[in-house]
Amino acid sequence: MTERATEGVSAMPGAPGRRPPAPRKKLKPKRRKPNPYLAWAKRLERTRPGITAFTLERLRGLYGPQPWVRRWDPTSELVMTILTQNSADINAEHAFVELRRAYPSRRPPERHTPGPGWGGVGLPEGVPPDWALVDAAPLEELVEVIRPGGLPNQKAKGIKAALRSIHEARGDYSLEFLGDMTAIDARTWLTAINGVGVKTASVVLLFSFGLPLMPVDRHVERVARRVGLLPKKANAEQAHDHFLAMLQPDEMHEAHVNLIRHGRLVCHARNPEHDRCPLRERCRFIDPKAP
Ligand code: SF4
Repeated sequence: MTERATEGVSAMPGAPGRRPPAPRKKLKPKRRKPNPYLAWAKRLERTRPGITAFTLERLRGLYGPQPWVRRWDPTSELVMTILTQNSADINAEHAFVELRRAYPSRRPPERHTPGPGWGGVGLPEGVPPDWALVDAAPLEELVEVIRPGGLPNQKAKGIKAALRSIHEARGDYSLEFLGDMTAIDARTWLTAINGVGVKTASVVLLFSFGLPLMPVDRHVERVARRVGLLPKKANAEQAHDHFLAMLQPDEMHEAHVNLIRHGRLVCHARNPEHDRCPLRERCRFIDPKAP
């Protein structure tokens, strides 16, 4: 027996060779990491009281209230949103009209009534595409059909991947079931599809079901950053969850529509029109110390 092995023998009668168990250290309860989105929302309210409400109220004064109205079915919304990625809305509309023409379904005609904030003119009434035909179409053919929308190779792949994923998971192409899920669960389901990001999923769920999500496009992000609603280091994807922490669920739709309109009409990327902006007295782009 080595010297080390005999240690503690006398201290433990009846259990030779074993040390008495060390008294257990009391474990400190682990501090939960604070939710960074809630933390920012609280900090913003503490350091700039009422800034979110001020922004929403002033934009409502300029553009009016924006009651939610369903635009159209969620699968059409998803495909249209993919078509708008990095393209003007009006070009996405041209591509969608071509989809209807090339792959008509037997479903009743539908109308696309996008409402304010949309950059196109809306689609005339027409028979929706048959998504099974689009899914089955050769990729090169689909690329040619949607070419008027821009970036056709990338978008044709995205549309086919999305339709295939929906069909594999559900057995058809309907996304109506998402309306029965919570906003975050539905967003998680959609973003699991390759090529569907948080913005695209939020558009589909906000406009098809009124689920309280905030799509953050470049206009929304620009205005929000200039006013100082978002942390400087937050990226575009994180901006979505910052809005969820800052806004009430029933404020999402109006906030989204009015921020987009403001970004398009007044707070342009170049030469923003500060003089006719109702946010200027609290805008950090004008005054980095604005209250
Ligand atoms: S004051 Fe100027 S920068 Fe600020 S939100 Fe208005 S237009 Fe944009």
